[in-house]
Amino acid sequence: MALRLAGKVALVTGGTSGIGAATVKRFVEDGARVAIVGRNAEAGATLVRNLGGQACFIKADVSQESEIVRVLNEAVGWGGRLDVLFNNAGGLAPGGVDTFTAEDFDYAVRLVLGSVLYGIKYASPIMKAQRWGAIINNSSIGALRTHMGGYLYSVAKAGVSHATRLAGMELGRFNITVNCVSPGAVTTPLFLGGSRVAAHMQPEKAKAVMAKVADGLAQATPLARSGSAEDVASAVSFLASDEGHYINCHDLVIDGGLTAAGRSSFAADDPSDPLAMGRRAMR
Ligand code: NAP
Repeated sequence: MALRLAGKVALVTGGTSGIGAATVKRFVEDGARVAIVGRNAEAGATLVRNLGGQACFIKADVSQESEIVRVLNEAVGWGGRLDVLFNNAGGLAPGGVDTFTAEDFDYAVRLVLGSVLYGIKYASPIMKAQRWGAIINNSSIGALRTHMGGYLYSVAKAGVSHATRLAGMELGRFNITVNCVSPGAVTTPLFLGGSRVAAHMQPEKAKAVMAKVADGLAQATPLARSGSAEDVASAVSFLASDEGHYINCHDLVIDGGLTAAGRSSFAADDPSDPLAMGRRAMR
């Protein structure tokens, strides 16, 4: 049987760490060639080395429109086409309702939301010309519930989820699907303060903190375990494939039942707040 993504060329932003890196590996296992985008050139080079010629690395800051244009051009130059775009790069935007700064705002809007909007904008003409495309955006359960992520982060992710529906409506007639995934609590370097902080942590310390985070998150999740990057990657691979191509404008929640658990809001000091558990474990 042919591999699910055989012959497809994919681009993954934030492919150097966490969910993005797991998706890069999964895409290659499923037969795709993958352009990996991120800022950490060392992590990118290591991945490329391990993927036997099926991947390339493009160093870029996707919070900049011009960088996204360059990345898409380079990816098509390398792969000859672009079938799949996973708009995944992101990070926890700091700042509360009455405390956020202009810098926090720029980060949330340019990276968390802007990279997705520009990714869709500049991938569309390429995919329209091919009459086939699958765009998957990484949103979050923070877009659906309160207290599942910071204020600006959640607002920006809500924008990602809605942009998914709007873009999927418009691009569907060109045989381009636009979907998003909304992961719950997935143990990645995000919980260590993001990929950049994690890259400078001692591996043993990072492992110990992640084990504690996973434990705390498992307690809040009906499935009684935290999510893994691979849990998300397998769903993204399906949405990127021909098998998943009748799914459009969809927000696929991947959270072990966390949002269905019935709690939509946690008091600041609630001991069962899943994110507070993560924060406590990090101390
Ligand atoms: P992560 O391990 O920290 O990965 C973040 C990725 O984004 C890294 O590859 C990083 O690349 C890249 N990135 C960040 N800023 C960038 C920029 N300006 N330009 C280019 N790349 C940039 O975290 P993760 O958990 O895998 O997060 C991936 C996505 O999943 C994010 O959008 C996040 O919001 C979403 N998400 C995560 C969870 C969770 O529980 N982990 C839940 C819901 C949604 P470099 O290190 O190379 O810069």
